[in-house]
Amino acid sequence: MNLASGIPAGLLQTLQSRQPTLWCNPAYETLPFPALPPDAGSPAQAQARLARHAPVLGRLFAELAQAGGRIASPLLPVPRLREALLPDGADAGAWFVKADHALPVAGSVKARGGFHEVLCLAERLLQEAAGPGGRLPALDEEAARTLFARHTVAVGSTGNLGLSIGLIARALGFRAVVHMSADAKQWKKDRLRARGIEVVEHGGDYARAVQAGREQARRDPHGYFVDDEHSAALFMGYAASAGELAAQLAQAGRPVDAEHPLFVYVPCGVGGAPGGITYGLKQHFGAHVHCFFAEPAASPCMLVQLASGGDAPLSVYDIGLDNRTEADGLAVGLASPLVAPLMRALAAGIFTVADERLFVDAVRLHDAHGVLVEPSAAAGFGGPGWLLRSQAGRAFVAGRGLEPALPRATHVLWSTGGSLVPAPEHERFQARGRALLQAGADAQ
Ligand SMILES: *Cc1c(COP(=O)(O)O)cnc(C)c1O
Repeated sequence: MNLASGIPAGLLQTLQSRQPTLWCNPAYETLPFPALPPDAGSPAQAQARLARHAPVLGRLFAELAQAGGRIASPLLPVPRLREALLPDGADAGAWFVKADHALPVAGSVKARGGFHEVLCLAERLLQEAAGPGGRLPALDEEAARTLFARHTVAVGSTGNLGLSIGLIARALGFRAVVHMSADAKQWKKDRLRARGIEVVEHGGDYARAVQAGREQARRDPHGYFVDDEHSAALFMGYAASAGELAAQLAQAGRPVDAEHPLFVYVPCGVGGAPGGITYGLKQHFGAHVHCFFAEPAASPCMLVQLASGGDAPLSVYDIGLDNRTEADGLAVGLASPLVAPLMRALAAGIFTVADERLFVDAVRLHDAHGVLVEPSAAAGFGGPGWLLRSQAGRAFVAGRGLEPALPRATHVLWSTGGSLVPAPEHERFQARGRALLQAGADAQ
């Protein structure tokens, strides 16, 4: 155990005991907006890239045809979920679920980052093949497919990123290899293999699968590795969602300004998805949006990294946690070294969630609105309660003079996955959550 972690003793003890907590980031908004390398692009460029290739995506995926190839999810008002979670909620504002669990094709937030990165790769390969000024074929023209067939796209994943990358890569004609950790769900492996995607299983955790995949791809001259721990292209794909949310909030008549703050709660694994979303939203809404991350109590990797106060890698294992959680996609021991330093300036705070609460909140959403999500996707649902009902949350609100604006605030719970989960699996999740709810085990 690393005793020189830099984490304040009281917080360290709370984390080690896995007691759920809200940590507000002391460096939040004290630092300048972080700069990314110029070749990382911008959220607007990522949004334009996804739009540019939408016609191709509409042709490749039947489920995207109707949407014209747009990778987008609905913004669902959830007043009854608010009622269930904060019954005394005069100050609770308006609640929405950003329904990325229903993103087409990949069924999770990973469709945003994953599709964007593979589209970046495809564009680059075509540009290299065409040479300066050469004509670029559409991504589904024969010439493009012939080129892509000579290349392998590999990724390390506990599941959802593998589904996203594997499905888009195969659809464009790449060979696709997904390196999975031992804890990846069988149905995800089956689904990948059924689509012609190669699955390589590795003992150990997610980081081991990523490492193994990275090494194999490095040995292949036509190999490309989607590196969840370092990828700016994934990050920008997630960040592109800010424009989509902004348009949806405007359409729903929810202004975002000094009088109408926006609070967003996003489940965090390695940090790319919540980090990219936060980066895009902070760029768009500035000081009027506050983004909180949700992590399993057994895997609070971003909290550990940011609370350590430095950039030297610090993992949940280093503080004696075991990184064992039922929340697939969130079972990550070490935060992305690309994303964590950016979040020092941009993340308002991070709260931790006991596994039981994930199942219970998935049931609450289902009972209130008939929507099914995977347990990981419910990780953020406790966010408004932390903000409005905990001491740390009230101090955050009071410190920014936001109290009077609370009744006019908008809260967005980002629901990150679930629509591909097989029905029997959902039934298991719901039964477990319902039993816990009835036993009254839903206390934070
Ligand atoms: C991957 C994932 C996340 C978190 O994304 P990171 O980029 O790993 O932080 C959240 N929820 C679900 C369902 C996921 O699959």
